[in-house]
Amino acid sequence: MRWGISFKASLSGKFLLSYLLIVLVGVATLLAVTFALAPTLFQAQLVPILQTHPGALTTTEASQRILGDFLGTLLSALAVAAIAATVTSLATSLFVARRITVPLRQMTQVSQRISAGHYAERIVVAPVHATDELGQLASSINALAVALEQTERRRLEVIGNVTHELRTPIATLEGYLEGLLDGVIEPSPRTLAMLHTEAGRLRRLVDDLQELSRAEARQIPLSLQPLAPQRLVQNALEPLEGQFAEKGLELQIHLPENLPPVIADPARAVQILTNLLVNALRYTPAPGKVELAVSHEEDTVAFRVTDTGVGLTQEQLAHIFERFYRVDKSRSRALGGSGIGLTIAQSLAQAMGGEIRVESAGLGQGSSFTLTLPQAHA
Ligand code: ADP
Repeated sequence: MRWGISFKASLSGKFLLSYLLIVLVGVATLLAVTFALAPTLFQAQLVPILQTHPGALTTTEASQRILGDFLGTLLSALAVAAIAATVTSLATSLFVARRITVPLRQMTQVSQRISAGHYAERIVVAPVHATDELGQLASSINALAVALEQTERRRLEVIGNVTHELRTPIATLEGYLEGLLDGVIEPSPRTLAMLHTEAGRLRRLVDDLQELSRAEARQIPLSLQPLAPQRLVQNALEPLEGQFAEKGLELQIHLPENLPPVIADPARAVQILTNLLVNALRYTPAPGKVELAVSHEEDTVAFRVTDTGVGLTQEQLAHIFERFYRVDKSRSRALGGSGIGLTIAQSLAQAMGGEIRVESAGLGQGSSFTLTLPQAHA
């Protein structure tokens, strides 16, 4: 048998043997019942004959001969019938077994190919198995293949993106260092500061990547506790207020007093708010305005950061939380962004039972990012 399974151990072998046993038991029963009933039935038939033709069976030998003839005929007919029954039963069981083993073999082959890395392989389910256990098993294997294919695609995407992100700062560092070695570039404080900036960019990128992988794998330990929204806003704003003023951006805060506490990790919630505020600061040219409004929405508290900045198109809104997504790559990179900040922020928000929503009326119309965190119940 293929795949090293002996015929007896294979599903079709088991089916065939069990069907054969059933057939044999059936035939034995057939014969036993015939032997037991036939004489009685025969005699029951004979009595009326004797009553109408009293001279027909005058001797015991004559009646035994007729009985013997009758049984012989019956048994030959039964023997032929039993052989025919065995052959047809075997053919039927073979057909039934094949209907089960053929798709199972196909599933084994396809799953072996999937495990060997051919993630595009799929099992074709015959209509007859569309709803039975075999069909369900095939659908599960197909769903597994889809999930593996998506994971593999994401993995390749991440490797491609990381390689691309690392190439630029490494090339800059290499260029400067070569220039310094060849004596083409002076080791001036400005050059050294440039090298330091590029090295810092590399370090930030590596830190972001580590944070991203931990956030996506839900491996960032969270210390969830009831927190006053006012405290979160204060902690996020304090280090940034000066930068808004420096850039010439107006900063407005709407923080009602009667807000319920939220359940969140204090450091991570502040990290998300900081991220949204820093983005608003980055992508809003002066003169402009950034507003942070906190409100109570059903079971959540919403922290809404609205700016009068560059805004986003519908297409950009759809991709904004994807890893490494940046609207203006060179500009964002020059501003120190790697396009991972919002992906990490969204992962963290979701891990705390909240989310980040984004809205924008279009390019040049400003944008609005809302962090929602679950309200703490007494
Ligand atoms: P980055 O570190 O590059 O800023 P983010 O993940 O924080 O990465 O943001 C991804 C992209 O989303 C940014 O590159 C920028 O194009 C866009 N973006 C984020 N915040 C804003 C905003 N407030 N206004 C306009 N565009 C924004």
